[in-house]
Amino acid sequence: MVHQGYWKNQSVTISVKTNCLTISIGSKEVFSYDLAGRLWTALVEEISYRRGLDGKVVAKWQTPDKTRHRRWLSQEESADLIQRGHDLLNNLLLNLRKNQIDLNPPLDEKGWRDLQTAASFDNSLSKADALKYHQVYKPVGILPPDQYISVVLQAAEGCSFNTCTFCDFYRDRPFRIKREDEFREHIRSVKEFLGDGLSLRRTIFLGDANALVIPMPRLIRHFEIIHEELDVERLGGIFAFLDGFSGERKTPKDFAHLAELGLKRVYIGMESGHEPLLKFLRKPGAPQDVLQAVRNIKAGGVAVGIIVLLGAGGKTYAEPHIQDTINVINAMPLDSEDLIYFSELVENENLPYVQNAYQTSLQPLSAEERIKQGEAIENQLVFGLEGGTPHISRYDIREFVY
Ligand code: SF4
Repeated sequence: MVHQGYWKNQSVTISVKTNCLTISIGSKEVFSYDLAGRLWTALVEEISYRRGLDGKVVAKWQTPDKTRHRRWLSQEESADLIQRGHDLLNNLLLNLRKNQIDLNPPLDEKGWRDLQTAASFDNSLSKADALKYHQVYKPVGILPPDQYISVVLQAAEGCSFNTCTFCDFYRDRPFRIKREDEFREHIRSVKEFLGDGLSLRRTIFLGDANALVIPMPRLIRHFEIIHEELDVERLGGIFAFLDGFSGERKTPKDFAHLAELGLKRVYIGMESGHEPLLKFLRKPGAPQDVLQAVRNIKAGGVAVGIIVLLGAGGKTYAEPHIQDTINVINAMPLDSEDLIYFSELVENENLPYVQNAYQTSLQPLSAEERIKQGEAIENQLVFGLEGGTPHISRYDIREFVY
């Protein structure tokens, strides 16, 4: 239900939805909260903000030349934003109670309740919430962009490989699969933590990096436990990464079984179709393993998301990276249910990739060359007419927020 009125010579819109509450003042200030009252997103003076469940806030904006920018806020800046929303909502509430704003239609019981819950979200609640997040989760390292609004359930922790030189998402934890009782307890803690904010979440994401390497009998039990604890259908099904291919391999029959249990899409960090580059990156498995895994997954009735790493291997590997990646993707039975993500290599001094690149005198690709590399791959992809074309988009891991 959308309620509109005037306040301080500006339009005010209160949008009371089944999954969130959004307050807009004029066209320049917007605050959205989940139904547990957590600040979720904001727009202030053309800068958009997104608060993660861990309390961190990322700011994004565009300059007139259409360049996109992003920056993580400092604690003080995040606190200012939360305080700004808190003050705005409390002021609004005060004026509504005094009948100084005429809303059309007037707020109903749910509208009042949601507004009061969101108005109570201040910096002490935000800090307590972030603390609770760290009790419930090992920090969620990364998700595919279409899964930032999922409910993450860590059936396993870490990555069973942890060898790739460009990735440090899970270096802080050994790989381990949760016991059944432990996993059930984890799901209950996640539910309790999210509270009414669960309604905002659109899918279930099975963490961490390669939960699908869990052997089938245990994996099936983990899926069954999810069904016992959550309404999987209402939440839009289960999604997961499958990364590296030297371990447990699943058959089309296994994937069909998992599809029956709600598995919708598997994301594969293929990175490249060029095997020597994968070896340079110390990525386990070969392109042919990825291809076979995709065939098995698709034959089981599950969609895939293929992730390609742009700029990997710099100028040394640029050409074969493009050509072999095109060849491998073109051999995949992809259709309109599937996704292809182009993710730019993000280097930092702590990554072994950077040391290896230095030692082998690798010339990096510029940002522009990386974009061109993505375009060169995309332009030569060919898909069957029958199933339609997969959705292709960019994946900037620096924007990840859960
Ligand atoms: S397999 Fe995936 S999660 Fe594991 S180290 Fe490699 S890129 Fe990172």
